[in-house]
Amino acid sequence: MARARHAKKEVESALTELTDAGWSVETTKSGHRWGVARCSEASRSGCQISIWSTPRSPGNHAKAIRRALDQCAHDQPENEEQA
Ligand SMILES: [Zn+2]
Repeated sequence: MARARHAKKEVESALTELTDAGWSVETTKSGHRWGVARCSEASRSGCQISIWSTPRSPGNHAKAIRRALDQCAHDQPENEEQA
């Protein structure tokens, strides 16, 4: 399903990485919150990160989004590191 594109290309690029990794991105457009991204773990222990529509620094926000992805321990089994 198509999702809304984020106006900041750095953030949009990070969001694409999230969805490629199985995260879902839901746009809420309330206030300055553009939406929320959730990892593949649907329970309350799953990760989520707020996406801002006008982050002070799009580059830093994109980094924060990627960090959430890196720190997620709920990857699908085929992506899980066994180390
Ligand atoms: Zn997670």
